[in-house]
Parts: sequence; C-alpha cells; structure tokens
Amino acid sequence: MIDLDLNNKIALITGGTRGLGRAIAEKLAEQKVKIVVTGTNKERAEEAASEISSAYNVETLGLQQDVSSEESTKEVVKCIINKFKRIDILVNNAGITSDGIMMMMKKENWDKVININLTGAFNSTKFVSKHMLKQKSGTIVNITSVVGITGNAGQANYSASKAGLIGFTKTVARELADRGITVNAIAPGYISTDMTSKLPDKVSREILSQIPMKAYGSPEAVANAVLFLASNMSNYITGQVINVDGGMVMY
Ligand code: NDP
Repeated sequence: MIDLDLNNKIALITGGTRGLGRAIAEKLAEQKVKIVVTGTNKERAEEAASEISSAYNVETLGLQQDVSSEESTKEVVKCIINKFKRIDILVNNAGITSDGIMMMMKKENWDKVININLTGAFNSTKFVSKHMLKQKSGTIVNITSVVGITGNAGQANYSASKAGLIGFTKTVARELADRGITVNAIAPGYISTDMTSKLPDKVSREILSQIPMKAYGSPEAVANAVLFLASNMSNYITGQVINVDGGMVMY
C-alpha cells in the first residue's frame, strides 16, 4: 500500500465551493487532509466546508475570499494560521471567464479576468508561501488551462491569464525549489462544470470533435492529478504543467 503522506496536512483550495475546486477538496479530504475552501460567498463557502467535513470526517473551514484582493487574501491566510498553525498545500483554483472577441472586449472584462485568474494566484501564493518558507515545506498547484497553451478565439483575457499562470508557475518553482516547496500546474481541457455548462450546444459539439478521447473530462480526473502533485509521490517534480485533457494538446 502506498502512503501518500497527506494525513493531517492542511490545504487551501481557492474557489473550492463547487466545480473542480470542490472535487479537489473532496479528493484531498478522502486522504484525511484538513480542508479550507474559499469562494466569493461566505454562506456557500461555509456550507461546502461543512458538507466536506461530514462526508469525510475531517476538520474544515469555509471562508469568503476575493482572490483578486490582497486584503481579503491576507485575512484568509491569517484565519488559517490561527486555526491550523500551518499550510501545506495551496491549490490556486479560483477562476472565471468573460468571453468575447478581442476587438469587442471591454477593458473592464479584460481586467476582471486577469485580476482574478492571475493576480489572484499571485496574492494567495505570496501570503501562503511565506508560511511554507518558515515550514521549509509545501506544495503549490496552479489550475491553468489548455487554452493558456494553444490560445482560443473569444478568450483573449482568459487565455492570457492562464498562459501567465504557466510562466508564474515556472518562475516561482525556480525561486522556491531549494526551500522544500514544489510548484506545478495542471492544464485541464474541457471538464464538465458550471463554467462549461454555459457553452452553446454548437460550440460544445465542435469542442468534442477536437478531443481525441471524444468526451469531456470529469472534475475527478483533475482532482486525481492534484492528489498526485500534492502527495510525496511527486516530490521530485517541480515547474511542470500536466495536461488533463483527453489528448487535446500534445507536445
Ligand atoms: P466554476 O465556475 O464551476 O467555479 C468557480 C469557483 O471559483 C467557485 O468556487 C467560485 O466561488 C470561485 N471564485 C470565482 N471568483 C472568485 C474570486 N474572485 N475569489 C475567490 N473565489 C472565486 O469553475 P470550474 O470549477 O469550472 O473552474 C475551476 C478552475 O479550473 C478555474 O480556474 C478554471 O479556469 C479552470 N479550468 C476549468 C476548466 C473547465 O472545463 N471547467 C478547463 C480548464 C481550466 P463561488 O461559489 O463563491 O462563486
């Protein structure tokens, strides 16, 4: 039997109330990781934390966070340290889309997506890694996207944020590599969540035709990759991007 060495570790999953973040939180909770989930809405975050706690019998905390705000993120990290005294795993998962062709894109929609998807990961990483540095250990997993690698018409803001996240991952991995902290990214393809359920049928069919496995992925497929990167099975892996995309992007 493999010991993943996750028992009693503390994980912060930003945007862990639903979708991929929720599946990641549950996957880690299964391994007896203590879970902190955040989201824009306090009640939703508390409800998600309480459901995870009941289902997996682990300590949890649900907190409101706007990842794009330094103040809000600082407060979240303070609450976690007060309660659990440490943070072992950070999953920068919170993200949004606000699609439209570049020529028509309003600057506020550009800023919103960059601020949440990219600056949000910077804020959480900055405040959390301070504690990981003191602990001399930690794992950071950034949820990027295949469109950060390939680009995608109609998603200039989103694909730029996700490409930025890949550069950020590699840089922070280099900066923290000799401090016992690994930093990696996961690039999901199309996964069935609230985010993709908004796609029109025609677009959805076109996407399916581009996936060699001819199916959308499940949130659990992404959560499994996070579990691997959060565990000691991947302790000599840093600065990498793992695609979970049914073969959509191969390089
Ligand atoms: P969902 O829309 O289902 O969930 C988004 C989560 O992010 C929610 O928990 C939401 O909280 C939270 N959130 C949104 N804005 C903020 C904010 N400002 N601060 C804190 N939390 C916030 O998204 P998915 O689960 O589909 O996506 C999760 C991640 O995976 C994103 O980064 C996305 O870009 C990425 N991804 C998803 C793919 C897919 O196919 N679904 C493909 C590739 C990447 P609340 O509940 O309070 O609204």
